[in-house]
Amino acid sequence: MNQIPEQLARVRERIDAAATACGRPPGDVHLLAVSKTKPASDVRSAWQAGQRAFGENYLQDALPKIDALRDLPIEWHFIGRLQSNKTASIAAHFDWVHAVDQLKHAQRLSDQRRDDQPPLQVCLQVNLSGEASKGGVPADEAGELAHAIARLPRIRLRGLMVLPAPTTDTGEQRAVFRRLRELQQCLVADGLDLDTLSMGMSGDMESAIAEGATIVRIGTDIFGARPARPEQP
Ligand SMILES: *Cc1c(COP(=O)(O)O)cnc(C)c1O
Repeated sequence: MNQIPEQLARVRERIDAAATACGRPPGDVHLLAVSKTKPASDVRSAWQAGQRAFGENYLQDALPKIDALRDLPIEWHFIGRLQSNKTASIAAHFDWVHAVDQLKHAQRLSDQRRDDQPPLQVCLQVNLSGEASKGGVPADEAGELAHAIARLPRIRLRGLMVLPAPTTDTGEQRAVFRRLRELQQCLVADGLDLDTLSMGMSGDMESAIAEGATIVRIGTDIFGARPARPEQP
């Protein structure tokens, strides 16, 4: 029995409740369904239940799914770590990239994005204390990198992303998300046009929404648990 529609509905209810609880309009918070490691049929189920944006971490996994689902106008988000030899394919097949942390990668994505495609939507991943992955630019270097990325022609810098180490302490969860929001506010005051905070996963989305998340990236609570998988290089 396919539980995806029901689990998706429950996640949407949690998003609406969390937004309402802090006085935000529920429409401010967009749900990115993280379908990494899950089959194309799961994505199709979620689509049929109204979900439109899907996130993938592993290019080799994502490409056959994107191909199998090309009859659906899905908005594809690449949320994994970038490698130079993957940027061409990411620029060709995705609408958003969440974890840009090097100018070199952003330049390649911009160069490789075709002119007949809309600009690639990009978030800068920031490394705040206690990151789960090694990715992300240190906060004190984020401003310089953000300004450089914002000048690239085929990229639209939308905002910031963080991937904190998992903790069940909501105070700690909120402290990290608050720092990302404060950094965004600094960059906006400094002239950058950033409207996106990509933060919050299955275990901490309420904290992220309370601190201003505009995209929550939810996998497990929609599609179920994933097999353990080693970190990407
Ligand atoms: C896997 C992943 C998610 C989703 O995590 P869940 O805990 O399954 O909701 C979100 N963001 C990134 C970057 C991920 O790698």
